[in-house]
Amino acid sequence: MPLPKAELHVHIEGTLEPELAFALASRNGVRLPYAGTEELRRAYDFSDLQSFLDLYYGLTNALHTVDDFAELAEAYLARAAEQGVRHAEIFFDPQAHTARGVSLGTVVEGLARALDHSEERHGISTRLIMCFLRDLPAASALATLEDAKPYLHRISAVGLDSAEAGHPPSDFREVYAAAEALGLRKVAHAGEEGPPAYIREALDVLGVERIDHGLRAMEDPELVARLVRDRVPLTVCPLSNVRLRAVDTLADHPLPAMMEAGLLVTVNSDDPAYFGGYVGDTFDAVRDTLGLGPERLRELARNSFEASFLDDDEERRARYLAEVEAYAFD
Ligand SMILES: [Zn+2]
Repeated sequence: MPLPKAELHVHIEGTLEPELAFALASRNGVRLPYAGTEELRRAYDFSDLQSFLDLYYGLTNALHTVDDFAELAEAYLARAAEQGVRHAEIFFDPQAHTARGVSLGTVVEGLARALDHSEERHGISTRLIMCFLRDLPAASALATLEDAKPYLHRISAVGLDSAEAGHPPSDFREVYAAAEALGLRKVAHAGEEGPPAYIREALDVLGVERIDHGLRAMEDPELVARLVRDRVPLTVCPLSNVRLRAVDTLADHPLPAMMEAGLLVTVNSDDPAYFGGYVGDTFDAVRDTLGLGPERLRELARNSFEASFLDDDEERRARYLAEVEAYAFD
C-alpha cells in the first residue's frame, strides 16, 4: 500500500498520456503532428519550459467534448489512486481550450463529471483550480474569470501558470483582486524559471496563500525566512524541474535543503504524462535519489494535507493525517 498523500500541483492537461491523446484525436477527427505514440514520446526531450509548452498545447487539440474531459480526469484519478493519492487539487487551463473554440463550460462540465464520482470510485476528494495563462494579456484572464461565473460553485481557487520568464505576477493584480471578490482562493506559479522577486510579488501583490514551485526562493535567505515564518506552502515538482532543466539532475535538487530550512514543502507531479511519473513515482524517486528516509517522506505526506484547501473540511483532514501517522513503511 502506498503512503497516503495529497497532490496539490497537477495540471489535468498534463496528465494526457500519448495513447489517450491519439484515441481522442481520432475520435474527434483531429490530426496530431506526430506519426504515433513512439514518435511523440521521443519529442519529450525538452530543452526548457517553452519547448515543453509548445508540445503540450499541440496535444490539447485532441480534447473537444465533455466526454473527452471526463475521460481525461477519470484516467488521472485512477492512476492517482494507485499511487496513494487521497486528495487532489487539480489545475485546468481554460484559455488553452477557449482559444481553439472549446467553451469553458465544456471543460468544467467534463472535469466535474469525473470529479463527482471520485470519492466513491477512487477514494479521492478533489478541488478544482482554474489557472490563467500568464503569457496572455491580463485582459484575457479577466474575460476568463467573467466566463467562469456560472461555474464558480465548482471552482475553489485561481492559479497562474505557463511561461514565467518576463511575465511577472504583478501583471495580474486586477484579475486576482476580482477573483478574491468572487470568493475564490489564490495560488500562483512563481520562482520556477522566474526570480525570487516573482515569489514576493505573488505574495504581496496577488495575495496568494500558496506558491507553486518556489524553487528559486532558495537564492534569497530573507525570503526563505519569511516563507518559513508564515508557513507558506511550496508545491515542489522535482521530476518536472529535471525535465525542464530548472535543475541539472534529480541528485542536484534542493528539496532536502528546503526541508532542512524548515519550509512547508510538498512533492507533486506537475505534468505527469510528460515528466516521467505520477506523484507516487515522484516520492519513490526522491527517496531513491535524494536519500529521504521514512520520516522525511512522512513529513512530505503530512505537509501535503496541511498545505491543502482542506481547512474547509477539518474533520476529513484529520482523518487523512491520521492515515499518514499510522502508515507503516516496509
Ligand atoms: Zn505547474
